[in-house]
Amino acid sequence: MGNSIPLSFPDITSREINAVTAVMRSGRLSMGPRLEAFEQAVAERTGRRHGVGVSSGTAGLHLALLALGVGPGDEVITPAFSFVASANCILYAGAKPVFVDCDPRTLNMRVSDVEAAITERTKAIIGVEIFGNPAGMRELAALAARHEIPLVEDACEGIGSVHAGEPVGRFGRVAVFGFYPNKQITTGEGGMLVTDDDRLAAVCRSLRNQGRPPQLEAPDGEEDIALGVTMDHRRVGYNYRLSELHAAIGETQMTRLDEIIEMRQRVAENYTRRLMGHSDLILPTIEPETRMSWFVYVVRLTDRFSAFDRDQIIEGLRRHEVGSATYFPVIPLLPFYAGTFGHEPGSFPMAESVSHRTIALPFFTRLTDREIDLVSQTLELMITRADFARR
Ligand SMILES: *Cc1c(COP(=O)(O)O)cnc(C)c1O
Repeated sequence: MGNSIPLSFPDITSREINAVTAVMRSGRLSMGPRLEAFEQAVAERTGRRHGVGVSSGTAGLHLALLALGVGPGDEVITPAFSFVASANCILYAGAKPVFVDCDPRTLNMRVSDVEAAITERTKAIIGVEIFGNPAGMRELAALAARHEIPLVEDACEGIGSVHAGEPVGRFGRVAVFGFYPNKQITTGEGGMLVTDDDRLAAVCRSLRNQGRPPQLEAPDGEEDIALGVTMDHRRVGYNYRLSELHAAIGETQMTRLDEIIEMRQRVAENYTRRLMGHSDLILPTIEPETRMSWFVYVVRLTDRFSAFDRDQIIEGLRRHEVGSATYFPVIPLLPFYAGTFGHEPGSFPMAESVSHRTIALPFFTRLTDREIDLVSQTLELMITRADFARR
């Protein structure tokens, strides 16, 4: 790493490396026992009947919507402030995204705003635990149930978080996890759907594997069929499979999830302790009944700073070899959304205000106290400079 501090860094030990090596030696590189074990581990952890491993979180969201029958003419409610995949999946399905602004405190959608966005065309609601925070998810699930609209939980940022005893992944009819290297746990690339719905799980298993019948995926002792020799295609499917190598990393990471969450908790607490009381910064707010699994540590500048000031601060951090990023753009204002759906600046005031002022700081398990102090000191210096420059 040299002197530079990266924005994120995966926590990979010799256990993950050995697990991958064992798969390499086994000859079974896809659709095998490691995938089943990984699926079971994630399903168990989230208290769900089924886990369906896929090639990415984005692929999982796509399949979730298809399995729910979302298509042209349907509307799907989704946050304006999220990672772009929580809206793109709606476009993949040919449906119309209906964007909802965020609560400036939790950064998740406000349940009352979601309710106001429901029409007779609403076919699904995508709820996201932004930065891992499950605030409001219970209320969102209750709202969805009241209106008999399925809730798709985009849990890609929240594995391991618990709200009032309920683990993230158990709020939606179906939930989707992502395992990109910056997430709490990683498979390199990968994702996982979890659900209690037998039919939904079976359709997703088929769709990830070129529309093959799901029960033929990996029957005991019939490896030729499991390896994809069957040419029975029941529907237009995709190749969204997760290889045994990826699954082996994920299975091992799952056994280490609690230790990883704990290390990340320590880093988050240190940042909070270090930056608390800085009058120009808004730190993450977590409700007392929430046990966080921290995805990122994102601070926010107060309203007197502009997006330009924020970008200058990020530039300054990077010049000092401190990894830093803006988090996220407002999805409906991205040109390819605004052009299609006609959203204008000012339509999502909270998301826009937050989006202009967020700064993601380096965040990973092995970040030392010294590095946290250095990051904080550099951040404070850059804020002072931005403040000075604008006078
Ligand atoms: C990471 C992420 C995804 C997608 O994950 P990939 O595995 O990168 O496709 C989807 N939604 C949210 C909110 C995410 O943070």
